[in-house]
Amino acid sequence: MRVVFLDRDGVINQEVGYLYKIEDFVFIDGVFSACQMFQKLGFKIIVITNQSGIARGYYNRSDFDKLNAWMVNEFKQNKVDILDVFYCPHSPEDECHCRKPKAGMFTDAQKKYPIDALNSWMIGDKENDITAAKVAGIKNTVLVRSGHKIDEKDSNARFILDSIEQVVSVIL
Ligand SMILES: [Mg+2]
Ligand SMILES: [Zn+2]
Repeated sequence: MRVVFLDRDGVINQEVGYLYKIEDFVFIDGVFSACQMFQKLGFKIIVITNQSGIARGYYNRSDFDKLNAWMVNEFKQNKVDILDVFYCPHSPEDECHCRKPKAGMFTDAQKKYPIDALNSWMIGDKENDITAAKVAGIKNTVLVRSGHKIDEKDSNARFILDSIEQVVSVIL
C-alpha cells in the first residue's frame, strides 16, 4: 500500500495554534483536489498529528475526536477517503514514543497496514514532520510553506513547496 501521510495543522488546515473548535478549522486551498489526485494515483491517505493541547489541558480527547470526525466527513463530502488518523496526545515532557520528531505514529501505521514506505510520501509544515518520516523509512518528504514559518536552508525535506496543492506535480 502506497500512502500519502499528511500532518494536519498547517497542511490540511490553517495553523491557528491548539485548534479544537470546528468553527476555527479552515481548510487550506486545494487540499481536496490534491487528495483526490493522490487517490487517483493509487495512494491511501493517513493523517499523523501531534496534539499536545490535550496533555496541556487546552482541550480533551473528546474535543479532538469531535473535530476529527467532522474533518473526515468533510473530506468524504469532497470524495476523499481518509484511511486513518493517528494522533499523539502527549506533551514533550511525557517522552512518549509517538510525538514527532519520533517515528512512533508512523511505525504504528506500518504495523496496522502493509505500507510500502519507499513509495510513500509525507507532507508536513515543520521539520519535525520530516524527521519522523525519515526515521520510519519514508524518504519522499515535502515541507510546505502553508503553516509554521520554516527554515528552508536547514531542512532535510526532499521538496519545499508552497502548499499541498503543488505536491501532485512532484509526485507525478
Ligand atoms: Mg503542522
Ligand atoms: Zn505521544
